[in-house]
Amino acid sequence: MLDIPGRTVRALATDLDARYGNLAPEDVLDGVIHCFGDRIALVSSFGADSIALLHLVAEVKRDIPVLFLETGMHFEETLRYRDDVAKRLGLTNVIDLEPVFIELSREDPAGDLHISDPDACCSLRKVRPLNEALKNYDAWITGRRRHQTFARSTMAVVEPDGPRIKVNPIASWEQSDVDAYIDAHALPRHPLVAEGFPSIGCAVCTVRPGAGGDARDGRWKGFTKTECGIHFSR
Ligand code: SF4
Repeated sequence: MLDIPGRTVRALATDLDARYGNLAPEDVLDGVIHCFGDRIALVSSFGADSIALLHLVAEVKRDIPVLFLETGMHFEETLRYRDDVAKRLGLTNVIDLEPVFIELSREDPAGDLHISDPDACCSLRKVRPLNEALKNYDAWITGRRRHQTFARSTMAVVEPDGPRIKVNPIASWEQSDVDAYIDAHALPRHPLVAEGFPSIGCAVCTVRPGAGGDARDGRWKGFTKTECGIHFSR
């Protein structure tokens, strides 16, 4: 937990956002990674666009902790891609976060909770494991972008997140910026992008969006849910 005598996390976030909020992503990352040292981690889904931020971060610190929510529900392609990308970028500290076995047995013995209550399933497999892991850090980095959902449209580059700081270095990027970065650095795409998946999460909750659909339409089809919950206020 971040402990700053005489300061609130909110005040620190405001200061950091004033300092870094208008800088290029690589400068934001350089600043916050050096500011927080071993107390900052990146959270990555190794999804459709993740490699852009993973590459940006690897350019600054290859042994930064990269937290991956291993829900047990991923596409095989995602798990292989995670390993391939880590090797290619030289990321040496990718950490799988798994749900607690006894909670899994008690709350989702048949493995079908995602059908009846996806919020409870995300809480069990994502939110709680991440909250537990984040106790080891004062700040975390995400790849969220403002254009992705209405809820994200006004987020700051640096924001308070309960007892810690959350950093969104590519908040201002449009999809075209991500695509241009990936192309410019000749980075490999998640293999399912070529098969029509613009947004990739757990296999059981990801479909190809229909023609003309938004990228996030392929997630939690049939539910109003647009976020897994890891970014809700703590
Ligand atoms: S995305 Fe689906 S399967 Fe994955 S944790 Fe959330 S509800 Fe469960």
